[in-house]
Amino acid sequence: SQLFGAARKNSQGINMNIQNQWNELSAAYQPHLARQWQAAPVIDGKKLSGEAHEVRCPFELSKQVGTAQFASAEQARQAIDALAAAWPRWNATPVDARAAILERIADLLEANRAELMALCTLEAGKSLQDGIDEVREAVDFCRYYAQQARLRLGREELQGPTGERNELFHEGRGIFACVSPWNFPLAIYLGQISAALVAGNCVLAKPAEQTSLIAARALELMFEAGLPQDVIAFLPGDGATLGGVFCRDARIAGVCFTGSTDTARIINRQLAEKEGPIAALIAETGGQNAMIVDSTALPEQVIKDAVASAFTSAGQRCSALRVLYVQADIAERVIDLLKGAMAELKVGPTHLRESDVGPVIDDEARQGLLAHVAQLKAEGKLIAEAKLPEGLDGHFVAPVAFEIAGIHELKKENFGPILHLVRYQAADLEKVVAAINATGYGLTLGVHSRNEETAKRIEELARVGNLYVNRNQIGAVVGVQPFGGCGLSGTGPKAGGPSYLLRFANERTTSVNT
Ligand code: GLU
Repeated sequence: SQLFGAARKNSQGINMNIQNQWNELSAAYQPHLARQWQAAPVIDGKKLSGEAHEVRCPFELSKQVGTAQFASAEQARQAIDALAAAWPRWNATPVDARAAILERIADLLEANRAELMALCTLEAGKSLQDGIDEVREAVDFCRYYAQQARLRLGREELQGPTGERNELFHEGRGIFACVSPWNFPLAIYLGQISAALVAGNCVLAKPAEQTSLIAARALELMFEAGLPQDVIAFLPGDGATLGGVFCRDARIAGVCFTGSTDTARIINRQLAEKEGPIAALIAETGGQNAMIVDSTALPEQVIKDAVASAFTSAGQRCSALRVLYVQADIAERVIDLLKGAMAELKVGPTHLRESDVGPVIDDEARQGLLAHVAQLKAEGKLIAEAKLPEGLDGHFVAPVAFEIAGIHELKKENFGPILHLVRYQAADLEKVVAAINATGYGLTLGVHSRNEETAKRIEELARVGNLYVNRNQIGAVVGVQPFGGCGLSGTGPKAGGPSYLLRFANERTTSVNT
């Protein structure tokens, strides 16, 4: 676990001493490891029943973590009826009151941090450090959007001719469906929901099938914080079944989605064809993220940042590094260090502090990744593979690195701990950026260079949402690195950024002849 650094920055940019956090948290965290949790559809504050699914722990498959009851298509229709009835009153609730609820949710998340971390670990297979970061980010989203709502959604007087008063103000669009991913089952789930709610929308919350339990627990905390029970409906369950209903319902005003580019296209198509208002789609999708390392870079720093960017969260981040472009002059040195770093990576159950890399989310994900690994191994491209300890009982994939000829070889996003390395010649730098752009994705890009001109040139040429120079390229901090890409990587606006809330709102003006 040394590889990922002994101290990290929290959202306020202060170096937190991880040791103190561990000591404080481990006592609180342990009792939760033996618990069982439940998730079920909730409409108008009432818990309903649905088809039951056992939830198993991704790093210990024999362990059941709880039961999730999946919502039906009929319940999705009922949910929309209920939200439609609640919307006018919620929309008329002052922004300040809505923002205050978000702040109380943030307080409750902090008060329940140990339990939420346990859920991140047991249900999503996250490492303890990822669990800490996840709760932190969820808290940050709630507080940031509360602050942004007060700042940007109030009434603003606009300059006009004498004898006229002109005001700009915002209101909710109506019902927003928030469709969130399993890789940030608390932070992105709550980030979407809190933004939609504070902007004046009622929310249909559809968490990823794999992570319904933590989403259900967070819903309880939202109600405890004073969120009116009729303004959110909770629909755990199958994306195609439920999405097929709400993306076609005339009353849906928008969808906020984080997940695959393919699913975003399906949602977009369904929304385009439905009756009713032209719905907004806010999509944060995949990436084919690269890091470009020139010969002025410090190889030790490169490896530390590349390993963290590629293998933290078992590579299951949209932001994760997939292709490390290294200038040929220093490639041997970088490869040597990479082999050394990968031999040190500890793969294992994520409730253990010494594990660097946990499991991937499920067997389907694991099989897909292993097929890619097998193919590249058969092509003789292996650089190094981390050790997989004996006797693991989970969806583990050993972190692995390959050498390939270019990013064009990758036909799809490999959402796991697989790093590809490409050597390039100094004269080809611009071609490298062109090849990265040609994937059509544009999410994160890393640069390691001590030559400022190189970084500037890359910034000019690259079509990406988040560029990181001489550091790792994951872990965007709310309000500091607003997160999101362009092209195949998403529609924008950036989550955790100043434009996000506005997309959830309708802008209005009133002009009065005085
Ligand atoms: N915001 C996260 C990061 O910067 C990634 C979010 C995602 O994977 O969807 O690492």
